[in-house]
Amino acid sequence: MEEPRGRYADEAAVLLREHNVTVRKWRKTNSGIAYNGCREIECPHPRDVTRLAVVAHEIGHHVLGHTETKWATVPRWKEELDAWMWSNQALLGIGIKPDYEQVTQSLRYCFRKAVKRGMLHIPEELRPYLSRTLIEWAEDEMQPKPYGVAKDDTVVWVLAHNHGEAKRLVG
Ligand SMILES: [Zn+2]
Repeated sequence: MEEPRGRYADEAAVLLREHNVTVRKWRKTNSGIAYNGCREIECPHPRDVTRLAVVAHEIGHHVLGHTETKWATVPRWKEELDAWMWSNQALLGIGIKPDYEQVTQSLRYCFRKAVKRGMLHIPEELRPYLSRTLIEWAEDEMQPKPYGVAKDDTVVWVLAHNHGEAKRLVG
């Protein structure tokens, strides 16, 4: 593994070593992934706090057991939330203040994706990270919408994401 570079190289190296995680690929972007079935990650070099936080976040996925099975046992948003909490604690543990805005933005992105994929209620644990606008958008997305008229003239109502199922109903 190529050693971490940047302002927080030492901190990242310690975290990686402590938790038996190696970096398969150093990314140019401020994003990462944790591989399933092996303790490897992709992440950016820890040049600043937000990049170090991504390194810690991906290590967190391994430590929390998110990468041990092929199928998730908890929702994706929950894994993301837990990995961020782990990352925050890891940073605080070495005297570095996390960038809480980074955490909020990441969880909002994750929430938007979950809603588009058909999440049917807003998890209480996520609410503190969401804005009023985002909550209103999500509540609207979660409302059933008229899709079409069935052969017996009844209107078929479906959730926006569920058009495949609706086609079967009316067809
Ligand atoms: Zn993650």
